[in-house]
Formats: sequence, C-alpha cells, structure tokens
Amino acid sequence: MMAGAQDTLKKTSQQTTPQATEQHTRTTAYTLPPDKLAKSKALYDLDNRLLLIDTVYGFLILLGILYLGVAARYRDWAEKVSGYFRYQALIFLPLLLLTIRLLNLPLSIYGHHINLQYGLSVQGWSSWFADLLKSEIMSLLVFTTLLALIILLIRKSPRRWWFYSWLVAVVILLLLTWVAPIAIDPLYYNFTPLEKTQPQLVEQLEKVVQRGGLSIPRDRMYEMDASRKVTTLNAYVTGFGASKRVVVWDNTIQKMTIPETLFVFGHEMGHYVLNHIIQGIILGSLGLLLGFYVLYRLCKWFLPRSQQRWHIRELGDWAAVPMLLLLFGILGFIAEPIGNTISRHVEHEADIYGLEVTHGINPDPQEAAAHSFQMLGEMSLDYPYPSRLAVIWYWNHPPISDRVRFAREYDPWSKGEKPKFVK
Ligand SMILES: [Zn+2]
Repeated sequence: MMAGAQDTLKKTSQQTTPQATEQHTRTTAYTLPPDKLAKSKALYDLDNRLLLIDTVYGFLILLGILYLGVAARYRDWAEKVSGYFRYQALIFLPLLLLTIRLLNLPLSIYGHHINLQYGLSVQGWSSWFADLLKSEIMSLLVFTTLLALIILLIRKSPRRWWFYSWLVAVVILLLLTWVAPIAIDPLYYNFTPLEKTQPQLVEQLEKVVQRGGLSIPRDRMYEMDASRKVTTLNAYVTGFGASKRVVVWDNTIQKMTIPETLFVFGHEMGHYVLNHIIQGIILGSLGLLLGFYVLYRLCKWFLPRSQQRWHIRELGDWAAVPMLLLLFGILGFIAEPIGNTISRHVEHEADIYGLEVTHGINPDPQEAAAHSFQMLGEMSLDYPYPSRLAVIWYWNHPPISDRVRFAREYDPWSKGEKPKFVK
C-alpha cells in the first residue's frame, strides 16, 4: 500500500504544472492522482454536509428536548427523588447529557463508517466503541461538574454568575490541558519515549533542537502508536509546564523520509518554542469570558419570552440547562471562524519556524517541507480546492495547497532577508 502511494506520488509531482517544466523532480504544487482526487472530492463534499447536519441536528435535539418538555420532566423526577441540590444534579444532568449523546450517536457511528470506507481509519468497531465509551464517561464527569456549578452560581449570584462560571470553566480548561498527556491520551494510545524506539532519529532531531537554540529534554519526545487505529500522518505538541511534550505518530516516522520528519518535528517545535499552547489557553479564556457575558445578556432577554412554553421556572432551574446549552452552542458556532482564523495563523507561524529551523540541516529544506505537506494531504485525502467559506469557517489549518506553495516560496536567505524566528 505504501509503495503504491509513493509510486503515484512520483507521478503526480511530475505532472505538468507551470513550474514543473523547470523543476520537474520537485513538489511544486499539491496534486492528487485522478482516483484519489475523485475520492477526496467525495469526502470533502460529505464532510461539509456532515458538519452542517451535525450543527443543525445538535440544535434540533436541544429544541426538541425543550419543546417536548423532556427537561422539565427530568427536573420533576430529580426533585421528587431528593430535595438536595447535589443529588438532583447527579440525577438530572447525567440523564440530560446521556439523552443528548444517545440522539447524537447515529451521526458518530456514520462518521466512523465513512472513515473506514475511505481507508482513513483501520480501527475495528469494538475498539471504536470502547474509545467512545471512555470519552463519554469523561465528558459526562466534566460536564456534570461544570453545569452543576453554573446552576449553583446562577442561584447564588444572579447578576455575576457569568463571571464566576467563567472562572470555573478556565480552571477546568487548565486542568484538562495539563492532565491530558499524562492521564487522558494514554487511555487511547501507547506513548513510548522516542529515544527508545528511534534512537537515530532522536540524534537528528537534537540537531534541529540545537539549531533552534532550545533544549527539549529527550524525555519530552514521544512516539504514539497511531497506526493501530488510523492511516493518516501527524505530530503534535501538548500539555504545559511539567506535562509539555512533543508527540510524533509512528505513521509519520514510518512513511516519511528523515528530512521530512525533521520538518514535521520543526513545525511542532515552533508550537513548543512560540508557546502556542499557553497562547491558545489565554485567547480561549478571553473568548469564553466574552461568551459567558453574552450568554448572560441573552438569557435575560430570552428567558421571559420562552420560559412558559418550555416550562422553565427561572434561570437557576434545572430545566433551563438545555436552553443554556442551546444559546452557548449558537454563540460557539458564530465564534468558530474567529477561532479557526487564529488557529490557521498560528499554524502558518509554525510552518515558518519549521522551514527556518531545518535550514542548514536538511539538504533541501523547501522540498522536504513541500513534500511532507504533499504526504500529509495525500494520506488524509485532503481536497486540493476547498471553498473559501469552508476554510474560513471550519479549517484550523491552512489548505495544503497554500502550505506547499508557501514552502516552495519561502526563502529569505537567498534574498538577503532576515528569517523571522530562527536567526
Ligand atoms: Zn501545527
């Protein structure tokens, strides 16, 4: 399968794009052979449709729960069982959250079916369901805690609950980010220190690390056994403080050349050096603060207009939770292009860093970067010509075509200009 992919790869990079005549051995643009192009187009259309259906269906589920009085009935049950807030929370919230998730399950199943059908995933159904169960339990714990605290804060402080709720949300966000690489990710994959599995690669990586004037300790580089579940390639930076680390998927190491892996690592190092995780937490927190405040104002306006129809007594009523989720969901959908635009910018910076930090180490750093993008795109069946709207709204990385073009063009050294990050 791998050899086949590489064969077609050579053919595509030799297709006659305008520049191809002068540099025919080089990756001048992101291209796919006809069969993969057709598949990637079908997948792209399907993904766009699914994203839209997912959003609309999510809102419809909450509206259904509100209109049919489901939330009010769950509240009545919870209140009948106990007069204590904490027991009511432990009955009402899991019941509501499980109802929402169960109604969403067909879409999740269909999503995995698509990934299997297109060969992006090799994970069997039982393993997939086991993973799903783990994430459901975890999100049930997190959201039961968060929502219980929000309802409690609404009752205790009707005018400032949005601020205190934000504080709670930020603490949970920090905790989850810190604990994810240590306690959550290992539930799904095995992580082995890269030094053990790829000693020669680590030696090469260390050159890149030194060139960046950095010291990433060897015990902060890990290999993840992604190939058990997916066929796509990736690497990432995660955690902060004591849990901060770089993770490279085993697929990436197996299918890419050393210079390409060095570039991918250099990109991740960019995230690491430029503190993108912490920046993301700070920006995300600011976004959440605005979100909670707008939610507070929206609720004030919205509640008197809908509470009779939905049997909500007041904002601190359990039955108001689906309304809070609905309004917050709508705000989140509106905020999505903003968050993704910031993310695409950050990813572009990491691309610049990766090109700069491998300059002087990789024999042809531009080709290594361009071809690694070609590989990433081809293995994920990334469609080369996405619509502008889809990119702005949903894409957290720049389109592969743009990244290949940039890798091809970015060469400050030959123009006597200063590199941006790595001097
Ligand atoms: Zn990145």
